[in-house]
Amino acid sequence: MKSYRKEMWFEIPTRRAFVNITDEVQRCIDDSGIREGLALVNAMHITASVFINDDEAGLHHDYDVWLEKLAPHDPVSQYRHNVGEDNADAHMKRQIMGREVVVAVTGGRLDFGTWERIFYGEFDGRRRKRVLVKIIGE
Ligand code: ZN
Repeated sequence: MKSYRKEMWFEIPTRRAFVNITDEVQRCIDDSGIREGLALVNAMHITASVFINDDEAGLHHDYDVWLEKLAPHDPVSQYRHNVGEDNADAHMKRQIMGREVVVAVTGGRLDFGTWERIFYGEFDGRRRKRVLVKIIGE
C-alpha cells in the first residue's frame, strides 16, 4: 500500500471565507501516484472546516447568513470562551460545518457525485492555517 501526506497552507485575509480546494486535492492524488484508495482532507485548526458541497456563490452566502444566525460573532461578550479572545463563534461554526471529508479515489480521480466539490471553510482567518491531505491506496 502507498501512502501520501501533504499540508496545505492558507492565510485568508478576511475573518470568514469558503475556498474551493478540489483542484489542489486532485493534484495531491496525481502526485501520490495512487489510483485506487481513499483521500482524507481535514482542517488542522478548531476554527476552520473542510466540507463537501456545491460550488455555488448563492449557497455560500446562504451558509454564511445561516451560520451567523446560529452563532453570531457579535457581541463577543455573549460567549464564555471569549476571555482574552473573540473566536467562540468560529469554534461553533467549525463544529457545524465539520472537520474533515473522506473521498474515494477511483482510477486516479476523486470519485464524486455530479456537483460535489471540496471546500476549506475559514471562520477565524487573517492568520496562517493548515489543511492535511492523507491518501492511502495502491
Ligand atoms: Zn478560541
